[in-house]
Amino acid sequence: MAAFAWDVHSEEGKDAVVRKPLVALVGRPNVGKSTLFNRLVGERLAIVHETPGTTRDRHYADVEWQGRVFTLIDTGGLMGDLPLDTITEQVQKQAQLAIEEADVIVFITDVLKGVTGADQRIANILRRAEKPIVPAVNKVDNLERGLDLYEFYALGLGEPVGVSALRGLNTGDLLDEIVAALSEVPLEGEVSTGVRVAVVGRTNVGKSSLLNQLLGQERVIVSEMPGTTRDAVDTSITYAGEEVTLIDTAGIRRRGRVERGIEQYSVLRALRAIGRADVVLLVIDALDGVTAQDAHIAGYIVDEFKSVAVLINKWDLVEKDAHTATLFEEHVRYRLKFMPYAPVLFVSALMGQRVDRVLPLAMHLYRERYVHLEDAEVSDMLQEAIARRSPPRGRGKRLVIYEGHQAGVAPPTFAFTVNDKRLVHFDYERYLKNRIRERYLFEGTPLRLTFSNRR
Ligand code: GDP
Ligand code: GDP
Repeated sequence: MAAFAWDVHSEEGKDAVVRKPLVALVGRPNVGKSTLFNRLVGERLAIVHETPGTTRDRHYADVEWQGRVFTLIDTGGLMGDLPLDTITEQVQKQAQLAIEEADVIVFITDVLKGVTGADQRIANILRRAEKPIVPAVNKVDNLERGLDLYEFYALGLGEPVGVSALRGLNTGDLLDEIVAALSEVPLEGEVSTGVRVAVVGRTNVGKSSLLNQLLGQERVIVSEMPGTTRDAVDTSITYAGEEVTLIDTAGIRRRGRVERGIEQYSVLRALRAIGRADVVLLVIDALDGVTAQDAHIAGYIVDEFKSVAVLINKWDLVEKDAHTATLFEEHVRYRLKFMPYAPVLFVSALMGQRVDRVLPLAMHLYRERYVHLEDAEVSDMLQEAIARRSPPRGRGKRLVIYEGHQAGVAPPTFAFTVNDKRLVHFDYERYLKNRIRERYLFEGTPLRLTFSNRR
């Protein structure tokens, strides 16, 4: 049976949170940002948790170098679908975005083109930023081109690293520079207060309306918590005697200052908030349905092993009959099939409809993250699972699972000892996850399964 190891008031619930730093690649189009991104992510280092269905359009991924893990973002890719901007406007916005949200900025130029006017303008913006900048010159495919680097000193950002994204030259030096710059970034060991909840979603879906409704509820006591990170402001509330921290609410509240329609602002902001959260509330506009951008954010939530609920907002605007909610939920399940465990709640932030269920749901999901199944329960599950469906064969043998137990919580992590972990396929892993969820639902939380070979 499930043993609840979780208690919001215990010391366990007060771990310091170390946020994963964000490193942004910035530069005008065609300097080779996406090539470099793929090179840095694709080679060796990447800890890419490939969640099927979330891979298209990926412009950020985790990279590990010298024991340091950071999230690398190709801001060019993020800006790519922006309509009707001049290139100058695009790159300037991109630079501003990176300054606001990233911890370290890698500024990329092109040795073949030399220093252009657009490069100058970006450099001007970056020079004013109080963030570490790593200048890089790309397309240095051979030694001769390396001689042309001095021209880039004129940008006033320090000594540039010459790299060739195409040929994979000198990228290790670039990573060294990035990691060195990261050491200047405070690790922000925050002390968590209770349940950390992030409200994320595209612009205009109703995040700030929802937030205001939540804060306006009768039982909610609000206190601001300034400065947990540089420019983020969290809001701490007490609800039903429990502490909840709403993450980076300033980003939502001050949205008025940010131009409307620039989805990319919200994406990067969302990534940051998700990284610090236990539970993520993904807000979706009922009139739009689940868009590609929504699925993109959802994919990141899954990759980060965060608990999640999907809030379908503006439900008041939907013409309904007896089947509408069911059909809509099917649509959500289809578009977000990589997180079938996420509860879906239909709300209207404007009318206050079902908003009173949001915080109880978030707290419920938090508890689900900390559920710990006893060893006997997992053994039993495993025996039954193997009896119902034999493990796959491969390499001339059959996968044998000797033992399994829950090795951790938040996210619930199950460790299995096997004969050859190469035989474990996604399919069987998913099968095991489903069997685990038959024993205990773990609502809203992804499960992590690890397999190691028996020595
Ligand atoms: P982005 O617009 O900044 O993301 O640039 P891309 O990554 O799409 O690259 C633009 C062009 O430059 C493509 O044709 C790439 O093949 C090319 N390119 C990228 N990196 C290098 C490099 O290191 N050397 C050379 N010669 N070409 C490169
Ligand atoms: P944000 O950009 O995600 O913070 O979205 P806002 O909270 O600013 O809402 C965007 C627009 O949608 C505003 O005009 C809101 O009044 C409206 N809105 C938000 N929630 C609802 C809702 O539940 N129903 C209706 N009809 N409109 C809503």
